[in-house]
Amino acid sequence: MPELPEVETTRRGLLPHVTGRRIEHVLLRRPDLRWPIPREVEELLPEQRIDGIRRRAKYLLLDTAAGSALLHLGMSGSLRVLAGDTPVRAHDHVDIALDSGRVLRFNDPRRFGCLLWQAPGETHELLTGLGPEPLSDAFDGEYLFARSRGRSAPVKAFLMDQSVVVGVGNIYAAEALFIAGISPLREASKVSRARYVALADAVKLILAHAIDRGGTTLRDFISPDGAPGYFEQELLVYGRGGEPCPRCGRALKQASIGQRASVWCGHCQR
Ligand code: ZN
Repeated sequence: MPELPEVETTRRGLLPHVTGRRIEHVLLRRPDLRWPIPREVEELLPEQRIDGIRRRAKYLLLDTAAGSALLHLGMSGSLRVLAGDTPVRAHDHVDIALDSGRVLRFNDPRRFGCLLWQAPGETHELLTGLGPEPLSDAFDGEYLFARSRGRSAPVKAFLMDQSVVVGVGNIYAAEALFIAGISPLREASKVSRARYVALADAVKLILAHAIDRGGTTLRDFISPDGAPGYFEQELLVYGRGGEPCPRCGRALKQASIGQRASVWCGHCQR
């Protein structure tokens, strides 16, 4: 599943190919993805110039003066810029044709992604109530400490709560808690300020590193082969239950926390 670094990498990869381009037409090969595609996408996007692409959490906003197309890659979606005559493959659901002769093509085999509309000056309901971006200055240890007071949920569930901070999925939560030496089971309200500083730093480090790696391993956005932006992670604990802890060598524990698989070291994480 594309996580925040893949979405950010997708944004950066697309940006130079779409910014300033005029949209010639929009072709929907089906009326819906996860949800129906609103009529504004077909009616308002054509003839608009693309001002840029923003990311909020794992959503991408293709901005024009008429409004913004709001995209989510879901479980399996990808966005690529292709030559206009590139043959259509299975699950190529949406084409946005650009005046460069290229096409921005949305492929999504499982259709958990979405293409929605945000009017100028409005915030789509999917984007309201979201916590700060993890790589922004608004997210730090002091913020986590303040938000966690009175929260009895396990710290891992707290960290994955999108109203606390966006984009910290299961993989990144497990890795950040390992680096910070915090047990995922610990009650959020019982983690000290100093340990939250370490945790926030770990989240930023991991995400920034993944985005940097994405930038170097990413396939060409103008190439029709391969799904762009999804890259192998260098993972310390995630998916390694029962294997030796990379720090102390003891077997890593595995259990379900908040219905999500969790792996941690009972010795290094307290
Ligand atoms: Zn250990």
